[in-house]
Amino acid sequence: MSTFLELGLKEPINKALTDLGYEKPTVIQEKAIPQIITSTDDLKAFAQTGTGKTAAFSLPILELADDTKKNTQAIILSPTRELAVQIGNNIKEFAKYMPNIKVVTVYGGANIEEQIRGLKRGAQIVVGTPGRTVDLINRRALKLGNIEWLVLDEADEMLNMGFKDELDKVLDATPETKQTLLFSATFPREVEAIARNYMTKPVEITSGQKNTGSDDVSHEYYLVTERTRYQALKRIADLNPNIYAIIFCRTRRETQEVADNLIKDGYNADALHGELSQAQRDSVMGKFRKKTVQILVATDVAARGLDVNSLTHVINHKLPDQIENYTHRSGRTGRAGKTGISIALVSNKEKGRIGSIERIIKKKFVQGKVPGGKEICQNQLMHLIDKVNAIEVKQSEIEDFLPSIYEKLEGLSREELIQKFVSLEFNSFLSYYENARDLNDLSSKETGRNGRGSNENMTRFFINIGRKDSLNPARLIGLINDQKITDNIEIGAIDILDTFSFFEIDKKFEEQTLNSFSENQPEFSGRGVNIEITKKERGGGRRRGGKKPFGNRDGGGFGRRRSSEKSSGGRRSENNNKNRSSSRRGGDRPDRNSNNDRKPSGFGRKRRERR
Ligand code: AMP
Repeated sequence: MSTFLELGLKEPINKALTDLGYEKPTVIQEKAIPQIITSTDDLKAFAQTGTGKTAAFSLPILELADDTKKNTQAIILSPTRELAVQIGNNIKEFAKYMPNIKVVTVYGGANIEEQIRGLKRGAQIVVGTPGRTVDLINRRALKLGNIEWLVLDEADEMLNMGFKDELDKVLDATPETKQTLLFSATFPREVEAIARNYMTKPVEITSGQKNTGSDDVSHEYYLVTERTRYQALKRIADLNPNIYAIIFCRTRRETQEVADNLIKDGYNADALHGELSQAQRDSVMGKFRKKTVQILVATDVAARGLDVNSLTHVINHKLPDQIENYTHRSGRTGRAGKTGISIALVSNKEKGRIGSIERIIKKKFVQGKVPGGKEICQNQLMHLIDKVNAIEVKQSEIEDFLPSIYEKLEGLSREELIQKFVSLEFNSFLSYYENARDLNDLSSKETGRNGRGSNENMTRFFINIGRKDSLNPARLIGLINDQKITDNIEIGAIDILDTFSFFEIDKKFEEQTLNSFSENQPEFSGRGVNIEITKKERGGGRRRGGKKPFGNRDGGGFGRRRSSEKSSGGRRSENNNKNRSSSRRGGDRPDRNSNNDRKPSGFGRKRRERR
């Protein structure tokens, strides 16, 4: 294997690479760098994301660019704003010891005047998204008449995103003499057409097989139903306390919905999609890079090409419409020599697509089991113990308190102390997952009418108040809580009807529930309240027309924000704080299906997953 110097790069570049920790070239760099330095032939490179392709095209350009001139010599087109910014920043880092090299990045959604000023000051290398690049060409702020290099990065995605016209316009503004470098992970017909029409006898290089996935990524699929998809997602997150993941969704709406639900459920998550403003996107990405946000829920387009290393997981909440996109998604992990896991949540109906993906990536999927409560608790417990082991004790800060603490804990043995401390951290979580349903049992009897079902461990109560009494699920939960039946009671499905309603309570507290209501004789909207145990209907006992229940919620997790952790800030931090404090009490776990049935503040009862 060669060194960067042996590939023909000069010392200032080599020095910058050393600073970045690049010890040796990657396969694509080894092939592309000498090729571009020594030949003006066009180049068609099959390169997976994460293989080091940014350096593969930008290092030789830096090597050859004339830094005594200020005119634009290279234009690099990339499909998204994020990717363009990333490439621009990478090149600036590579050119750290080349003070006369100027790089300007241009993209929509940002101040065009500022970009024009940057271009006027002179930049040998311009990185841009197609739309803004055309805009700047039209305003004569960007002159490409003398460029030497045109790079089309992620050409397939640019075409997918409908940038064909913009590409044509940019290409028209460039001279015949330029060298075109086309990098793409997939080569569908449209990209081949660009290569045919705009490139002259391109040299082809590849970093591995076309369209195949990285060797560093293992692929797993989990069978889910529409009802268990989100629960399975949370369990995967709960099983991996150090998860650092992108969850891919197909639409902006699905993305926002999954992100909102995760945030409400106390996870360190945020959404990235095209409906967010540029400032919001930058802020989300900044937090994700700093790992303040652990889980990024994103659309394909928004997350395309994002250079975030050390992701532990890529999760396909739904498979992409175009199977080829699976390669891009999974390529977000297993980068820069690290290993990663790509998980697909698929229904029975979608399972057939796994085979098609296997043929494209030339790798086999392993069927995973949605983790159960015991497994999750065990992992989280060990994680906690590891954290205890690793924690630095700041003696001087705590020593004033220690004598009275020792005094209070006097008499407890080491074992008792450990047990109490573990229980303190764990009781609510353990009870949350206690009896957690096996989500791998897709034939679950629970799926009754309306996709909801009965639960053997719950008792269904009739209550003589309903919508006409201004009852809603939140108020009903408040009413149940007010009866102080027991700490930590599980409330299951709720059906509010016009003049009466139903709710489910953990069977263990059947008697206590009846007694509490009868002793307290509560009133609601001026009516005396009474409850009775009902017989279940077949298939779950739901009545047509009843509101969606609160049921079917899944558990909380340790991988979640703790109130002591930094808030992710931004527009949701207030919400997060609220939810964090309630989740510490083992409280709120809003159901993505719960309509407007949101948790009332102060509702501190545990709502366990349906078993
Ligand atoms: P890319 O495919 O250009 O998005 O690069 C993927 C990741 O690998 C980026 O974080 C790069 O900084 C990193 N990288 C690229 N080339 C090398 C190299 N030769 N040695 C170590 N890391 C690299």
